[in-house]
Amino acid sequence: MADVKRIERDLETLYRISAPCEEGCTRLSYTPAYRQAVDYLRGRMEEAGMQVREDGIGTLYGLLPGRNPDAPKIVTGSHLDTVRCAGAFDGPAGIVCSLEAARMLRESGEPLESGLEVVATIMEDGGRYPGTTGSRFMAGIYGEEDLTRLKDDDGLPLIEAMKAYGLSGSIEGVRRRPEEAKAVLELHMEQASKLESTHTDIGVVRTICGNAWFRVTVRGKASHPAIPHAERSDAGFASIRLLARIEEKIAKDYPGKITVNCGQMALHPGAVNAVPSRAIFTVDYRSFEKAYLDAMTLFLEAEAHRIETEYRVTVEVQFLKGTPPVDNSPNVIDAFERACDRLDYRHMPLNSGAGHDTMFLRQVWDAGLIFVPSYNEGVTHCPQEFTDYENLAKGADVLLETARILDREKR
Ligand SMILES: [Zn+2]
Repeated sequence: MADVKRIERDLETLYRISAPCEEGCTRLSYTPAYRQAVDYLRGRMEEAGMQVREDGIGTLYGLLPGRNPDAPKIVTGSHLDTVRCAGAFDGPAGIVCSLEAARMLRESGEPLESGLEVVATIMEDGGRYPGTTGSRFMAGIYGEEDLTRLKDDDGLPLIEAMKAYGLSGSIEGVRRRPEEAKAVLELHMEQASKLESTHTDIGVVRTICGNAWFRVTVRGKASHPAIPHAERSDAGFASIRLLARIEEKIAKDYPGKITVNCGQMALHPGAVNAVPSRAIFTVDYRSFEKAYLDAMTLFLEAEAHRIETEYRVTVEVQFLKGTPPVDNSPNVIDAFERACDRLDYRHMPLNSGAGHDTMFLRQVWDAGLIFVPSYNEGVTHCPQEFTDYENLAKGADVLLETARILDREKR
């Protein structure tokens, strides 16, 4: 069984490794605090008999060798970076539980056939560079050109941040190959309260939510607000009507299947007494099924067209980015559930509303994600986020048992 005290010590130490901040922990990628956290983990990994390496983008790996050095590895971990003023668990919990699984494996004296590789990913939480950037490099979705394209809030290109942090700037060897591993496992806190409210130990994630983001620009004509509506080219009301129709369509045809958010909206010229000549807003769809994302994307385009005629405006719909929903691998889901059953831990199937590195690593390897309960109504990305250490210990047990099950599976 996992050692609760070791998990607690590692997580509390990592929580204290932070840039100065008002409350909680701020550990953005490529900062002195991030380096200090990597150094701490490196020490713990070496102490656990692991071979440690850092790749070109700063991902940290610790390998506990298996009996067969040629066998594909089993990878397990999560992200080490945080948002600003974060809590202690989102990210590091998955790394520390993986590390604990490796320690237990070594102490058991019964090594796996495969090496167990603990991974601490960088640039997952979007605190500095966009979210899940590290895993996109690992999956080969991002390459050389993205090193200069991606910039932080201060406009600093990624490659400059990497060099200032002490990396060479080369991404050779960052991309992982399918033959290198059998599967990748991730443990994360739930970020919702289903597990806590049902007193369940482990959530076995089926699908990770997909999204589609758009920027919509509506161009009309500024005019005096006394002009009758029928004679205006009102970019403001055209936008509001378009958004209302999207919400109505979802309520009518796809309730509970897809959500929409308009998180940004700007009106120009922005005066109380001027009909807006231009409106710019965002649309963010989320769904566990690609078909709904596709259907609502088509609806957005078709309605944009109708609004042009109705409101005498032009509407430009720009696709910003999107990720289809990702189904975790059936064999890994099955292994997680068998592991929970063997350990007599209560488990339930869940979906993940938030994105995770697993989504992209799934393109390279079989992949699976488990959740441990989040307390305090499931809040995360703040110091109030909490998962108790006993439950994290159960998570570590499940990671090890799952690795043992997958290790015996033929590829
Ligand atoms: Zn996270």
